[in-house]
Amino acid sequence: MDLKKYIADVPDFPEKGIIFRDISPLMADGDAYRYATNQITQYAKDKGVEMIVGPEARGFIVGCPVAYELGIGFAPVRKKGKLPRETIEVSYGLEYGSDILQVHKDAIKPGQKVLVCDDLLATGGTIAATIELIEKLGGVVVGTAFFIELTDLNGRDKIKGYDIFNLMEY
Ligand code: IMP
Repeated sequence: MDLKKYIADVPDFPEKGIIFRDISPLMADGDAYRYATNQITQYAKDKGVEMIVGPEARGFIVGCPVAYELGIGFAPVRKKGKLPRETIEVSYGLEYGSDILQVHKDAIKPGQKVLVCDDLLATGGTIAATIELIEKLGGVVVGTAFFIELTDLNGRDKIKGYDIFNLMEY
């Protein structure tokens, strides 16, 4: 299936000069969304994944249906102040300034094999911070999966040594 048909290219969003790759048409099409989910589910099976982690908010869209399909758990990574129980956190660099991501302290069991999911790999900052959180809890990141990788931004260099699975490249 040609999934790029279901990606809307939005020029000058959120800033002039940026082409935003919008996955909402893909999610809106049941067959396309299921096809994309099935590809990542197969990858997760091959990697022996025991738990899925995704950063808000589109990491949930990618990761939760895979967790459901495999009958395993999903743990959300969120911006500071959103999770109600005891958390750990990491701060990560953005183009301007920095932000903080958190995860519940009991989200991952030590040694658990984890797949990290998000909609899109750009500079890799979000996913590197998510991996750091998982490893602080003793989780083992066995792979990362994205609908889209923006190859020009070299996000893979930020997560060298981790396996990367994508469904589309731009
Ligand atoms: P990174 O941290 O630079 O790799 O940016 C990845 C994060 O920003 C992901 O959580 C994406 O959801 C979001 N993001 C960046 N660019 C786009 C885009 O073009 N479309 C959709 N999401 C994007």
